[in-house]
Amino acid sequence: MPLEIMTIPCLSDNYAFLMRCTETDQVAAVDVPEAAPIEAALKARGWNLDHILLTHHHRDHVDGVPDLVNATGASVSGAVRDKDRLPPIDIALDDEEVFRFGNETCRVIDVSGHTINHIAFLFEDAKAAFTGDSLMTWGCGRVFEGTHAQMWASMQKFRNLPGDTALYTGHEYTASNAKFAQTIEPDNGDYIVRAAKVAQLRARDIATVPSNLGTERQTNPFLRADNADLQYAIGMKDADPADVFSEVRTRKDNF
Ligand code: ZN
Ligand code: FE
Repeated sequence: MPLEIMTIPCLSDNYAFLMRCTETDQVAAVDVPEAAPIEAALKARGWNLDHILLTHHHRDHVDGVPDLVNATGASVSGAVRDKDRLPPIDIALDDEEVFRFGNETCRVIDVSGHTINHIAFLFEDAKAAFTGDSLMTWGCGRVFEGTHAQMWASMQKFRNLPGDTALYTGHEYTASNAKFAQTIEPDNGDYIVRAAKVAQLRARDIATVPSNLGTERQTNPFLRADNADLQYAIGMKDADPADVFSEVRTRKDNF
């Protein structure tokens, strides 16, 4: 396992992630809601932070960057097209750019919708994706800046990844997402089984992140806008998937 990944709870319901290339000892953090829990995790493992990767400019993903840079000297990478809203970045990344992290390759994809110029980090060999607030465990981020069509396009970028891709998503919203998903397809047996698993994990305060793409493809209503069963369940049989996505997203906003 060349990439070792840790999930670090921050603030009230955010997740940051630390990853280490076990072959080169390079360490990177994805998003920095606050510095202290990440510094503590680094110290506990004896890891030295080399890089910080940022998914988007929202404060609950970047507020800890200055402190963490001060403490570690790590370089900061973020979307070139959002550099005016991000903390100062050392490495500017564009859509479809590929970079090396240790012995791994990371592909950057633009997944705008939640914000414009939101990016995700795909480690296709290691089968790990860091999605920020775009695709979430059993949900998707609220569409603050982009259009629903843009967010649907972003969701589709994730769908073709292998089913065993681990999805490292920015928040622990899954219990609430589970309740919402079941309002969309109340009779879907896969949803019912998954909701029971989520309830069990959350009752013991265990993170539902990472999820994996196979599970999301099967049960995430935001990835199922072109699924006949979902369309039928919400009275939109044969509708344009972008319109179906928009309807589901609007229902979530009002949930
Ligand atoms: Zn956000
Ligand atoms: Fe967030």
